[in-house]
Amino acid sequence: MTRKKLNQSTETKTASTPFVFEYSPAPQETNIVKIEKKNKLFIDGKFVAPKSGKYFATLNPATGEKLADLAEAGKQDVDLAVKAARKAYKNVWSKISGEERGRYLFRIARLIQERAREFAVLETLDNGKPIKETRDIDIPLVAAHFFYNAGWADKLNYAFPGHQVSPLGVAGQVIPWNFPLLMAAWKIAPALATGNTVVLKPAETTSLSALLLARIFQEAELPDGVVNFVTGAGETGAELVAHKDINKVAFTGSTDIGKSIVQATAGTNKRLTMELGGKSAHIVYEDAAIDQAVEGVINGIFFNQGHVCCAGSRLLVEESIQDIVVKKLKRRMEELRVGDPMDKNTDIGAINSKEQLNKIHSLVKKGREENPDFFESSCPLPKKGYFHRPCFFNNAASSSTVSRVEIFGPVLSISTFRTPDEAIAKANDTNFGLAAGIWSEKGSKIHKTALGLKAGIIWANTYNKFDPTSPFGGYFESGFGREGGRHGLLPYVEVNS
Ligand code: NAP
Ligand code: MG
Repeated sequence: MTRKKLNQSTETKTASTPFVFEYSPAPQETNIVKIEKKNKLFIDGKFVAPKSGKYFATLNPATGEKLADLAEAGKQDVDLAVKAARKAYKNVWSKISGEERGRYLFRIARLIQERAREFAVLETLDNGKPIKETRDIDIPLVAAHFFYNAGWADKLNYAFPGHQVSPLGVAGQVIPWNFPLLMAAWKIAPALATGNTVVLKPAETTSLSALLLARIFQEAELPDGVVNFVTGAGETGAELVAHKDINKVAFTGSTDIGKSIVQATAGTNKRLTMELGGKSAHIVYEDAAIDQAVEGVINGIFFNQGHVCCAGSRLLVEESIQDIVVKKLKRRMEELRVGDPMDKNTDIGAINSKEQLNKIHSLVKKGREENPDFFESSCPLPKKGYFHRPCFFNNAASSSTVSRVEIFGPVLSISTFRTPDEAIAKANDTNFGLAAGIWSEKGSKIHKTALGLKAGIIWANTYNKFDPTSPFGGYFESGFGREGGRHGLLPYVEVNS
């Protein structure tokens, strides 16, 4: 391991050029994972070939190479999955006690823990996020969500004191690619704990971890049909949410698709939960612990390549400390390692797909046309695969594209404020309302600011901290309904009295 000055050839990095340790590669073994070449659908407890006869490829975004073929569920396949879920609901899952449901969920949680490294490697291969994140964040949280909801299964009367609740029936769930297994856990665990059965469609670029989860369900002897996975494209998701025999739609994804689902289900009796996009703000006051705030901003936007719905993609910094914050941000960004997600030292992995990378490129291009005050880290990018350097736009106008549009990549916009009221007004000046971060050493200022913000999740002096006991969800174009915590049970029950 050697210590050297980074990027000496690039401009602006002289006295402030950071020193970092150059690590030797520390690759995670991938042979602990066995990937089937041709994958089937998981319906009624079994892996079955799709009636559609169609398959499509899933890639490793860090190399662009194909990992496997996935089945593409058509209308008939979705119908079979919903029928299996209905049968399991009627005959088994709605009949057994909460205690028994909890026992299955505890068993699933323990099995996930036992195979955690395998899940982490598979998720990193298919999604492109760094192994240190899948290993230390995604998979432990997946297990935690199953444990947490297992605990509620026999205590629903305490979750809703004074009320009798009953399950809704069959839930149709559609999830995105940014936290594939975690989003599956957020959806499946509360649905099962409250007595519902599930048909879930994973994102087409990241379905492999759901199929491994199906194997865990088999191992846990979860009754057939209680959870079914229909892999496929957007049309498969549209078939699922339109199916007449589902009682509940839980969707996580983009605001545009969310709106189309709300329209498609209008006039039906289906209950909806929508977890959509965001353009969340950090407010950094001049009295904040600046190094800590800079680290939080870095984590808030560059964690998971910025593929985070609640990413802190707008930095609002008090005018008096703008220069020092920007200087420290640049220095820290130069230290971030972008590259092989399977290397344990990598900070920023691969963008999940070529389409997403193109989308980021085009928004950054538009941003540079509107605002030339642009900085990106000078790190080298791998020759293969889909990668993007961490970058920011300084002095971005509130009306600019990069301040308004969800980019879903490692791109930050920075603007300033002079008073707390201005900070609040600017933070709220968005169509979204998912998250916010407040950085100050003054508790009273944090509380006053938080009261003025319209965001579902507000962190103080930290960011991107997730916990199964905390509700998560947004306002406005960030959607409605909450996942996690006691609040996350409510969308899956009928409150009868
Ligand atoms: P997306 O394009 O909306 O896709 C989400 C899921 O919906 C995928 O499984 C997709 O299938 C499916 N889908 C596409 N068209 C559909 C249709 N017409 N009907 C039903 N399902 C359809 O979103 P994404 O690009 O995968 O994910 C990124 C978005 O998710 C961002 O906006 C992010 O903010 C949001 N997100 C929100 C939260 C939250 O909790 N608020 C959490 C994570 C992500 P394909 O994969 O085949 O396209
Ligand atoms: Mg993939």
